[in-house]
Amino acid sequence: MIHLKNSAQITAMKDAGRITGEALLAARDAVKPGVSTYELDLVIRRYIERCGATPTFLGYGGFPASACISINDEVIHGIPSRDRILREGDIVKIDTGATYHGYVGDSARTLPVGRVSEEAERLMRVTRDSFWAGVEQLKAGNRLGDIGHAIDALVVANGFSTVRRYVGHGIGTDMHEPPDVPNYGTPGRGIRLCAGMTLAIEPMVNAGGFEVRELPDGWTVKTMDGSLSAHYENTVALTSDGVLILTQVEPGF
Ligand code: MG
Ligand code: MG
Repeated sequence: MIHLKNSAQITAMKDAGRITGEALLAARDAVKPGVSTYELDLVIRRYIERCGATPTFLGYGGFPASACISINDEVIHGIPSRDRILREGDIVKIDTGATYHGYVGDSARTLPVGRVSEEAERLMRVTRDSFWAGVEQLKAGNRLGDIGHAIDALVVANGFSTVRRYVGHGIGTDMHEPPDVPNYGTPGRGIRLCAGMTLAIEPMVNAGGFEVRELPDGWTVKTMDGSLSAHYENTVALTSDGVLILTQVEPGF
């Protein structure tokens, strides 16, 4: 069942979303060659806890850190480690969440480490743009398939592919609530969108094929063909006054 949120609940989600977005800003400022993914995780954990919030990911399903940090051909769910050092030219995906007063924010960004290739730049840009193409379809009366179709159409038009095995989701007091929000779909199909829905829309885009595989660590997901992958996620709310992007705290980021 989809949990529709009233305006007081959406106000509470704004706080969780803001803290999540600010934690990602703090991590962005720490990204540079020579930094370990463990250190980035620590920046995020400290920021969230300083706000009086709880790192949602820590212990979620047994996950051992406050953020999933994935490099280059790693798609999602990378485990922060002292041994994973960022190098010039890498792209790094940071996905995190904060729980505050019972509500959850969930957001991810892909960041360049120093100078990156033109293809990496384009992949990051298309992934971000595809999120916004999806959000354009987030209006009462539209269908869930309209969002996924808009995301996938932009990705495919740019010669990339959309991950299918993992999808976005409803969000609220739980990080993962119904419905699933696939990054592909058929226009006019799926559940009808309405005010009060809060969703994590999160395109995962591969430069090569859409297939992915999970590593033996039980978490890290990589592209099957070793191509680069990017991820861009915000927690959003559909209200009677329009769409709120709850985890975006800086325009353009
Ligand atoms: Mg996330
Ligand atoms: Mg998510």
